[in-house]
Amino acid sequence: MSALDTLEGRLIVSCQAFEGDPFRDSGSMARFARAAELAGAAGIRVNGVEDTRAIRKAVKLPLIGIEKAAMPDGAILITPSFEAAKALVEAGADLIALDCTARGQAYGALERVREIRAGLSVPVLADIATEEEAEAAQAAGADAVLSTMRGYTAETAGVTRFDPLFIERLVARLRVPVIAEGRIDSPADARAAIAAGAYAVIVGTSITRPRDIARRFAAAVEDEYRARRGGGYVAAIDMGGTNTKFGLVSSAGEMHWSATEPTPAASGARGLLEHLQGAAGRIVEQARARGAEVSALGIATAGWVDTNRGVVAYATDTLPGWTGTAVAGPLSEALQIPVYIENDANALALAEQRFGAGRGLSDFVVITLGTGVGGGCVVGGRLRRGAHFVGNAIGHLSIDPAGPVCICGQRGCLEAYASGAAMLGYAGDAYANTESLVAAANAGEAKAQSAIRETARHLARACATVANLLDPQALILSGGPAQNNLLLAKEVEAEVKGLVPAWELRRLRVSCSTLGYHGGVLGAAALALSHEAV
Ligand SMILES: [Zn+2]
Repeated sequence: MSALDTLEGRLIVSCQAFEGDPFRDSGSMARFARAAELAGAAGIRVNGVEDTRAIRKAVKLPLIGIEKAAMPDGAILITPSFEAAKALVEAGADLIALDCTARGQAYGALERVREIRAGLSVPVLADIATEEEAEAAQAAGADAVLSTMRGYTAETAGVTRFDPLFIERLVARLRVPVIAEGRIDSPADARAAIAAGAYAVIVGTSITRPRDIARRFAAAVEDEYRARRGGGYVAAIDMGGTNTKFGLVSSAGEMHWSATEPTPAASGARGLLEHLQGAAGRIVEQARARGAEVSALGIATAGWVDTNRGVVAYATDTLPGWTGTAVAGPLSEALQIPVYIENDANALALAEQRFGAGRGLSDFVVITLGTGVGGGCVVGGRLRRGAHFVGNAIGHLSIDPAGPVCICGQRGCLEAYASGAAMLGYAGDAYANTESLVAAANAGEAKAQSAIRETARHLARACATVANLLDPQALILSGGPAQNNLLLAKEVEAEVKGLVPAWELRRLRVSCSTLGYHGGVLGAAALALSHEAV
């Protein structure tokens, strides 16, 4: 049985500390390794000859040795020479890992994989950041690939969280085992890695860096405290197909400054990125005028967003060229602050959770009515995006199999029955916009009220599906047609009551968002703030 075989389906703990860290001594690393062994870890990742020797004495587990060295380009490279690998094996390492990213390859990594395997007879593990690098490492003879470098190379700089989909893609593409490493912050992440097909999981920071663990708690405590007292700013942008709203938002959700500009929808990815950067620049200026800095930028955009990579996964023709655009990485580099991007309906759910009707609730669903119909589901306190970031498509719940054909290919999608245009249509197009229709209904006009009842009847059928599936505490109606539309909320609740079982058991309430015109901007702010607290 090779050292690699013993790692299958198990946890490996990376025991490393930076210079200057209170735990930066080999004795501390050995004690971390011993604790990991007692906890049931199957292997240890260790940096440097001295630590390898100390840990070898402390534990019986296989050791993955690495040597981090500064290169002529000024950056660190993992195990840059055969000699370094040889010294690690002599000190007690059973496997060797090395940087096989494009940069590592430029420093001869692939040749080194062959050299170490042949010369030292130990399994060689390739630290990579992309599928292409993984393939090259496999072709060079690497015994396994590790996702270690994902998010730490120029090309993958937009990746700020562990991405199980990347593991899934590697597993599908490679013959050799894939070991998940990098930003695995919780047992849930580790579980997701195994579910995605990982051979083993390596966790470092979240187990062996008390300073980072304490910092995460300190930030969460301070952020929440600040949020309750006001103070602390983020920049927030809500970019729709027609208009872009943006503003300077405090951590308590106060809009300190805001503006609206037309979205240059036809200008392509580059034009849209420039537009976003320009808006962000104006917000930063406004913060500075108040003697403050923004700590992060949140962006809500039309289209589906791969939030792990900060990339627009899919956008319709309303924003031509937007599909596939990397947003968070390039903007973060240009602005020198963390940038987060999210689908606009999901962002509204985050806004309700932090600032609106979703506060204090663990389970609720936001349904946004507008040109289309969308939504966001919060389950167990967390926004659910789905495995491929295309969940929450409430507008495409079919409520009538004989209904009109939708852009998605189905018939009778909710979107056709509950959009702003649909509501106006039920009133015989007697009102110029939903704002005046709602005002007329509130003033007692029968035609407007019956249009709202009609909308509610259709909406309730989709809400019943959602309620049966998720059993939420609240359904929050958002968007223009829901503004001040208490009749709509009341009618939807009454209709849903008749459509779902066990109504008496449920505490399901339907309400209208009170966040108003800037709900999307607040959602973008909530997105930035939730990351800042992590
Ligand atoms: Zn549809």
